[in-house]
Amino acid sequence: MATVTQAYRFALDPSPRQRRALASHCGAARYAYNWGLQLVQERLEQRRAGDDIEVPWTLPALRWEWNRAKHQVAPWWAENSKEAYSSGLDGLARALKNFSDSKAGRRQGRPVRFPRPKKKGRARDACRFTTGQIKVLESRKHVQLPRIGVLKTHESTRKLARRIEQGTARILTATISRTADRWFVSFTVEAQRHVQTEREKAAVVGVDAGVRHLAVLSTGMVIPNPHALEGSLRRLRRLNRELARRRPGSRRGSRTRQRLARVHARAANVRSDAMHKLTTSLATLHGTIVVEQLNIAGMVRNPRLARAISDTGMAELRRQLGYKTTWYGCRLVVADRFYPSSKTCSGCGWVKAKLTLAERTFCCEVCGLVLDRDLNAARNLARLVQHVAQSGWETQTARGANRKTQPAGQVATKREPSSSGSPRA
Ligand SMILES: [Zn+2]
Repeated sequence: MATVTQAYRFALDPSPRQRRALASHCGAARYAYNWGLQLVQERLEQRRAGDDIEVPWTLPALRWEWNRAKHQVAPWWAENSKEAYSSGLDGLARALKNFSDSKAGRRQGRPVRFPRPKKKGRARDACRFTTGQIKVLESRKHVQLPRIGVLKTHESTRKLARRIEQGTARILTATISRTADRWFVSFTVEAQRHVQTEREKAAVVGVDAGVRHLAVLSTGMVIPNPHALEGSLRRLRRLNRELARRRPGSRRGSRTRQRLARVHARAANVRSDAMHKLTTSLATLHGTIVVEQLNIAGMVRNPRLARAISDTGMAELRRQLGYKTTWYGCRLVVADRFYPSSKTCSGCGWVKAKLTLAERTFCCEVCGLVLDRDLNAARNLARLVQHVAQSGWETQTARGANRKTQPAGQVATKREPSSSGSPRA
């Protein structure tokens, strides 16, 4: 048994009055965030002007300032749970910490900018509750949140309710959020889980997530996209074209945008569900799973739909495998970002200079191997492990863990794969 932190997310069926309360709490969180940010900026300016003044940078400091000012700046504050304001200030404190950590070189990755105000309609609507009446009710169809009260869930909460009744789970926080026009509650739970530690499964598998298929395995197995996804993708393309024709700010434009958000959410759900089935079977049947490192920087604002979908698919695959490999006692290996898994021949190790996204088949100009592009990539990923099997890599779980424990030795050999023309098996 091990203690793990796990999330349970349920769609809600709120009444119109509750919808307003949910939106109000998210608005309150955003208000507190923006208020705090403005205060920090003012104080920074005063300090720059030479004043010896304290700048609130942590959650306790921000909360103290808020409690002092709320009667003046937000006389309506009592309409929402105090947790809403705390949630917004917590988000700000984290953003400020990320910024100063990044500036001081304590944080890897891309530089973090100074936080910016959250715009209504632009920022994600979310609010987190950490104390008060947070419950999953016995009916298994209702949850209780501070101030908002009893909410009906769209689906049964039995999986979580059962664990709570058995005493193997404890709710830490509840977060409400909105995706398109649907509200969700997500419980962060401390749970006792059986975690397998022995590694009797020896099989190694490389996984490549794509656009045409959900994933391709190095074993040659192709996991197709869920059927429902194809329809969603077609609708997405059509709505995107429709949106391009609409005048900015027009009523029809906003209607198209709403519809687009709904289809996006549905496609993401369908995909994530299929991905869950895949990752569970991968983690239960194999000893080692090899996936590609993501180019997070390149993912931001990619105008190409296909590329964006493939990246989010890969991100979701990584995320799910991250914790499932721990649960089921297998190893997750993340290939270095610079490892050319698509461009390398899985037969002889030759590296193609350029491979466009449109080229679906890999043709080796040295050994003449011709095979599906994704399968080639998956096989290369699986082969990576044969190198490092004895070198004692740690299992890389949790997002960002690979930053700290970059497999440096392997990177060095793989950056110039053409230097040795023979297969490295
Ligand atoms: Zn070859």
